[in-house]
Amino acid sequence: LTSRLPNVGTTIFTVMSALATQHQAVNLGQGFPDFDCDPSLVNAVTAAMRDGLNQYPPMTGVPLLRQRVAEKIAALHAHRYDPEREITITAGATQAILTAVLAFVHPGDDVIVLDPCYDSYVPAIELAGARAVRVPLHPLTLRPDMAAIAAALTPRTRALLINTPHNPSGTVWTMAERQALADLLRPTDVLLISDEVYEHMVFDGQPHVSASGHAELAARSLVISSFGKTFHVTGWKVGYVAAPAALMAEFRKVHQFNVFTVNTPMQQGLARFLAEPAHYLGLADFYQAKRDAFRAGLAATRFELLPCEGTYFQCVGYDAISDLPDDAFCRWLTTEVGVAAIPLSAFYAQRPQRRIVRFCFAKQDATLNRALERLAQL
Ligand code: GLN
Repeated sequence: LTSRLPNVGTTIFTVMSALATQHQAVNLGQGFPDFDCDPSLVNAVTAAMRDGLNQYPPMTGVPLLRQRVAEKIAALHAHRYDPEREITITAGATQAILTAVLAFVHPGDDVIVLDPCYDSYVPAIELAGARAVRVPLHPLTLRPDMAAIAAALTPRTRALLINTPHNPSGTVWTMAERQALADLLRPTDVLLISDEVYEHMVFDGQPHVSASGHAELAARSLVISSFGKTFHVTGWKVGYVAAPAALMAEFRKVHQFNVFTVNTPMQQGLARFLAEPAHYLGLADFYQAKRDAFRAGLAATRFELLPCEGTYFQCVGYDAISDLPDDAFCRWLTTEVGVAAIPLSAFYAQRPQRRIVRFCFAKQDATLNRALERLAQL
């Protein structure tokens, strides 16, 4: 047997959650909320089931949900996607990313990713028979380094995969960075795949800078998001992709033979829930309060706080606590201290110089406090 992914094991999120369960640790590793979604969202889904909406929806997704997604993007980023031809509902962002890569990337192409990045990007590129070119984010700020991206662009570059707000660092692209990217890509035919799953978790009054909000970039972009993050339903695995019609036609050719479509009742429920903008516009304040409380607690420990502008992740240094490499430190923290975290090296090609771990603060206050009590002992 020759593996298609010889360098891949089980994802760090699965590994750390299993270890957390085994040792009854507070799980601040894998990113998911430990509280439930809005009951009215569940009611909308079960109502759809009771209404008999239980057969295949259209291949591209439930029309009302596509329409509501298009309305949301138009309201927030002033860009009108045609819900018929330019929005597709996917089985979460992970499927959208893999499908986008398979639809556009040919064997022998290069795809640029910014290192560190989410762990599904590079395997998706490798499954397409292409080469992932990892361009480091700025080592200290973990912000995009435009000069480094420019230097990596070649005629073989088929696509660039970006992520804002950024997992794991919590950095958020600025308007200036988006404009610099547009300038950089102008003379090329490079596609932009923009992973924006944390779009509604941007703090301190900063905007979410979407590729869809820049006409020139939108024309070459597949913009991807996930309802799992926005509505506290990571287990539902429903997301969407928005792209110009010509790109979407190619995306759908692959999508139809990948999952064909996504379960009907969840889409129906999400469509009804999405009618009320307050359901997503309140998310930034909700998570900002959690971030602030968690950071205040961590400030009383020996962990070193890194900035967090968005997402539900807080990165910390631990030089004052341990000399262990980050993966060993996370295992020790889980088994001996009772708090699970994710080592940042899981997002890198090579172990980074700075030793950093990531905590997820999408948790009830009581959960965060229990973790903080344990972390304060170190
Ligand atoms: N995106 C989530 C994280 O970064 C986890 C998703 C997963 O478990 N694959 O923690």
